[in-house]
Amino acid sequence: MNILDCDGVLHPKAIEGLKLFNQKKFFETHEELEDAWRDETGEIRKLYQGILQIAVAYLHITRGNYPGALKVYERGMKWLTPWPDLCRGVDVGQLKKDANKVIVEVKRLGAENIGRFNPMLFQPVQWNEKKIWICDKCGSEMHEKSCKVSCPNCGNRFDCSDLNIYFD
Ligand SMILES: [Zn+2]
Repeated sequence: MNILDCDGVLHPKAIEGLKLFNQKKFFETHEELEDAWRDETGEIRKLYQGILQIAVAYLHITRGNYPGALKVYERGMKWLTPWPDLCRGVDVGQLKKDANKVIVEVKRLGAENIGRFNPMLFQPVQWNEKKIWICDKCGSEMHEKSCKVSCPNCGNRFDCSDLNIYFD
């Protein structure tokens, strides 16, 4: 794995997958991330595989499959562990912490009581999408540097912290 793989943008299918993950549609998450994984030839496909496996572990929990959840969680963590906490705008560090909390709770409940797992514990993945800014005054593509967005054509500018770039 090369740290530079964390530069750049997410595959569009991976973005779809993350949105579905955050809607707790874990089966559909898995399908989108699998497409991203298949399309991608670079190392970043391993990150997609890791998030995919966490989604499948969560799916197993919702279906009451205790051994399946633990097995796929372990597999997912193997894929996620090598990556830095922030990669392509995805907060991988937080995802690992959240998934760990989920599994600690699943183990506490045990196979008998997995049906009582509280789905509120499925936390969303935090990420921000690198985006292309188009000037609302003249339609030119704007430049962004450290959250300062400016238009090379008309001088229009704003601070991206004025906008909510995180998805709920
Ligand atoms: Zn402009």
